[in-house]
Amino acid sequence: STPGGQRTREEKIVVTVRLRPLNKRELLAKDQVAWECIDDHTIVHKPPPQDRSAQPASFIFDKVFGPASLTDTVYEEGVKNVALSALMGINATIFAYGQTSSGKTYTMRGITEKAVNDIYRHIMNNPERDFTIKISGLEIYNENVRDLLNSESDRNLKLLDDPEKGTMVEKLVEEIATDDQHLRQLISICEAQRQVGETALNDNSSRSHQIIRLTIQSSLRENSDCVRSFVASLNFVDLAGSERASQTHADGARLREGCHINLSLMTLTTVIRKLSIGKRTGHIPYRDSKLTRILQHSLGGNARTAIICTLSPALTHVEQSRNTLFFATRAK
Ligand code: ADP
Ligand code: MG
Repeated sequence: STPGGQRTREEKIVVTVRLRPLNKRELLAKDQVAWECIDDHTIVHKPPPQDRSAQPASFIFDKVFGPASLTDTVYEEGVKNVALSALMGINATIFAYGQTSSGKTYTMRGITEKAVNDIYRHIMNNPERDFTIKISGLEIYNENVRDLLNSESDRNLKLLDDPEKGTMVEKLVEEIATDDQHLRQLISICEAQRQVGETALNDNSSRSHQIIRLTIQSSLRENSDCVRSFVASLNFVDLAGSERASQTHADGARLREGCHINLSLMTLTTVIRKLSIGKRTGHIPYRDSKLTRILQHSLGGNARTAIICTLSPALTHVEQSRNTLFFATRAK
């Protein structure tokens, strides 16, 4: 079987939107719901804005998932094909993009879990192939890279350029997962390690990017001769809050202070925009940030990408939600 599907043409980036339910705090504050998914592809501002001519009131995507949607559905319909292409040697990256508290971590954790289940199901069903799964985890905070599998990690790991493997993170721990349970355990170490950062540094998760990278190697045996081998990375990326890329903060003073603008996030949005308009050969500024350097070989070129844009339904967040939808539109 070909779980990722045959890749016969240049795939566009799969962009989906997930609208979460109002949370307790928003309900207590009697916040209003500002958005509605009216079908599988369309999300609309509700009620329509006063001045309809000024702002678009509806946005269309590959898929939109409403507040009652399950992570299972988001995975099946928005991620699965992209994720499983890594089993066939095609690098893949899944992003969660959205403002702080919109549901990025909630969604990405669920997605990662579902992908792990699917990968091991595939391994079980394909005994003629020998698989090795490796995992590494890192966090980028203020352009400093830290290892999430090594609690003693230097907080500013160096990036090295390897002529064959591309950009490598020096000293980054890569563990071989012995089975699915072990892999889940290693993933939860990464998640716990990120939370340690969250307590130590105020507001860490709104400013930092987390990458969990699975490296999937396999070789097809025929009469005990190794016939064909595949290797690919599958990256799960929980991005910093998108308010860190907001145009409203993009003035020089703030940029220099480095406290509002997130260089990696800004660069990623530029890279994604260029990739989406098909500039796969022109200059794409991968080298301008740590995040895009690390992901370079898993974006563009022969790689596949899925972006889940998470949205708060609250009226108080309507401007940030609109910014997220503008980003999502440009990424299509
Ligand atoms: P972010 O990572 O974008 O800052 P979180 O993933 O931490 O946001 O989500 C914020 C809160 O909303 C958490 O308490 C989370 O459990 C809850 N939440 C997020 N998305 C959903 C959802 N689709 N359904 C139910 N609760 C959600
Ligand atoms: Mg988060």
